[in-house]
Order: sequence, then structure tokens, then C-alpha cells
Amino acid sequence: MKIGVLALQGAFAEHIKMLEKLGVESFEIRKKNDLDNAVNNNGIDGLIIPGGESTVIGKLLYDLDLFDDIKNLILNGLPVFGTCAGLILLAKEIENDNRSYFGVMDIKVRRNAYGRQLGSFFTKSEFKGIGVIPMTFIRAPYILDVGENVEILSKVDGNIVAARENNILVTSYHPELNTDLNVHKFFIKMCDEVKK
Ligand code: GLN
Repeated sequence: MKIGVLALQGAFAEHIKMLEKLGVESFEIRKKNDLDNAVNNNGIDGLIIPGGESTVIGKLLYDLDLFDDIKNLILNGLPVFGTCAGLILLAKEIENDNRSYFGVMDIKVRRNAYGRQLGSFFTKSEFKGIGVIPMTFIRAPYILDVGENVEILSKVDGNIVAARENNILVTSYHPELNTDLNVHKFFIKMCDEVKK
């Protein structure tokens, strides 16, 4: 099992630490070669797209010629986990932005849904099948609407903050900034299922 972590900007190091704690091997994707090498050696079983700034990560994906390759891998079933900006990059529609990026998940999202400055907070809420877990939100989006194949996994104050559609898992919050490993475990299980 080997997970690629997109390491262009944002909170990628924290994801790598979570995977280490779970005893799962990972590698950073900083340039096209990192991904090509892994794909050519059958060395990628899942991908994490971290939080950060979706506009910055989105631009770098194009500048570094990574965009199409990653999109195709996801469309071909590679398990992917997007947190915060990662969620925005995966969404089919962004309500308050005329851009969209990978557009592979049937969700409509609102960027900076809690406000830009004061939008950071911590809470605990239910993650379906796991129980109550810690959730750290940093200028987070939330999901306004989901397609029929999307399973809702968490809500906070009535807003959808975690969901899954087939091989795609997203959270508005940052599980990598807390010590609870359950969401990462959930993702690794998704990767295991595909690998079998
Ligand atoms: N506000 C950021 C964006 O729109 C996301 C913030 C985050 O990833 N913590 O991309």
C-alpha cells in the first residue's frame, strides 16, 4: 500500500504524518515525474489532496502539467481523499466561483462558507460509521448539494461537511490537524478495497 500526497502547497506534511502513524507508506507529489514514476511502477494505491488555497493548488496543477494525469487516474478509479481546498478541487460545481477544477465529484460547494477571517473553528461531530470525531475548520467550504450517488458522512449545524462518492472521499475539515486517525483509516480501507 502506497499513498501519493499532493505536495504543491498547504497542509500535506500533516497528512504524511497521519499515514506514518498508521504504518502506511506515502510519497510526495511535487512534480510530474513523481507521479509518473509511481504510476509506471504500480506504486500508487491512493491520493490525498490537502487543504491550502484551492486557487493556488489549481494553478500549480496546470503549470506543472499534473492536472490531466491526476484527473484521469481519479476517473479510472484511483481512491482520492480531498480535505478542504482538496474538496473544492474535486467538486463539480463551486457556487461562489466561476472556476471548477477536477469536477469529478457530484457536489456543489460554497467556498469560504464560514467567512474568510473568522471562519476557523473546532467542533466535534458524528462521522457515519465511526462515531463522534474532532473537526478543525479553517476558512472551510461546505457542501450545499449532492448528487444521488453521494453518501453524506458528516453534518455540522445542518451543513454537509464530509461525503463519499465511489472512490472519492472529501471533508471540509482537517482530520490531519487532530490526533484522531479514524478518517485516514476509513480512506485506507477504501484503498484496500480497490487493491484487492
Ligand atoms: N479557503 C480555502 C480555499 O478556498 C480553503 C481553506 C483550506 O483548505 N483550509 O481554497
